[in-house]
Amino acid sequence: MKTKKMNMRDLIRLMKALDREVANCSRCGICQSVCPLYAVTGDESDVARGKIMLLSGLMTSFFENPHGVRQRLDRCLLCGACAAACPRGVNTLELFLTARGIIAGYEGLSLVKKLIFRRILSNPRVFDRVMEWASRWQSLVLKKSDIPAGSCGTLVSPLLSHRHLAPLAMVPFHKMLPEQTQLPGRSGMRVAFFVGCLLDKVFPKVAIDIGRVLTAHGFQVIIPPDQGCCGIPALAAGDQASFQRLASHNLDRFDPLTFDFLVTGCATCTAAIKKIWPAMVNAASPDQSAAVARISEKTYDVMQFLVEVAGVRPSGQEREIVGGPIITYHDPCHLRKTLNISSQPRIVLSASGAGRFVEMPDAGSCCGMGGSFNLAHYDLSTAIGEKKVACIEASGASIVATGCPACMIQLADMLARQKDHVQVVHVMELYAENILESAPGPK
Ligand code: SF4
Ligand code: SF4
Repeated sequence: MKTKKMNMRDLIRLMKALDREVANCSRCGICQSVCPLYAVTGDESDVARGKIMLLSGLMTSFFENPHGVRQRLDRCLLCGACAAACPRGVNTLELFLTARGIIAGYEGLSLVKKLIFRRILSNPRVFDRVMEWASRWQSLVLKKSDIPAGSCGTLVSPLLSHRHLAPLAMVPFHKMLPEQTQLPGRSGMRVAFFVGCLLDKVFPKVAIDIGRVLTAHGFQVIIPPDQGCCGIPALAAGDQASFQRLASHNLDRFDPLTFDFLVTGCATCTAAIKKIWPAMVNAASPDQSAAVARISEKTYDVMQFLVEVAGVRPSGQEREIVGGPIITYHDPCHLRKTLNISSQPRIVLSASGAGRFVEMPDAGSCCGMGGSFNLAHYDLSTAIGEKKVACIEASGASIVATGCPACMIQLADMLARQKDHVQVVHVMELYAENILESAPGPK
């Protein structure tokens, strides 16, 4: 059962706004050459240009077959490769997110999505409790494997397309907060840490490492309690109401006047706060609008922060490291394509001295995760992920580092499917392991 939420006047207003952006597309087709989905399907309607042509006839096609339009729009990783390559500056990400919102507003959300987004995700305390409960029972469906990823038990494995799942942490990061908040810093600068769902609930060690590294560099780390999701999963599902609710929830907890910088260790959270919030949050007041803009200005990916603010420099010693592991790096789409962050993680890796760095071929290609795309189109996600695994293997690395917990989950699953023992880590884990004793101070 679905409900229709958006009234016709709002719908037509949003469609007209969409039309203006659609008109910017010259149909040049450059986006075709960078689309990871097109690379595995060869289907023009999967490319940004194909979707934009669909949207240009939206007024007609939408009322004739809204479900068909929705299905076509859902076949997209929201990786941003098309937006980064577009010579006309068409903001395809905002376009697709807005279009998904229009269609979900007209068709309504399914009961499952309403339950997940409206009842659970947009109520952070409920979400925390549900995930804590799930972490206690996950041993019933997950079994340990000798490859570096959790794997499904036989009962649910076929239902999950034999995925290798990263298990939920038994103790999420927010439960460790008394030891982590309000750490003093010698720099006099205060850094707010937006933790994000996956670092909190799946990779709390990465969050701990980030807190320790920032402290070692002399920053006071502020970790407001009761943080919520950045809202992107809801927005990607077209649930604008839950996105707005989560953005407001977080804005109430992150007052930009109380910190100098905001950092995250998740590529998607950084892109959301820096780019998507200013474009898509319907601010409730001029004050909230100003807060969104201020937070966006102050937001850094943690590796970018270490290089641009803390003054971390490459060691230049990597080639001389003998006997250490070979490390390669996967560029998360939301860092490289949306935020143009690619040199900084490599500098942090170099500074860590954790091993010999070898660039993989096509390091900037998508891993195939795409959030809910992985859930809905696992076959396509896997086809894209297998190409990434071939790139990792070509590097000869025993460790692949990245800067996004969602990419970590996908890479671990894809490598495990090939029975490959390459270890997947966050760059900050390597940096924390290797430099904490000798961290330099801020610039
Ligand atoms: S690259 Fe940009 S202008 Fe060219 S077809 Fe794609 S979206 Fe349109
Ligand atoms: S966002 Fe990525 S997957 Fe979607 S159309 Fe653009 S390049 Fe293709």
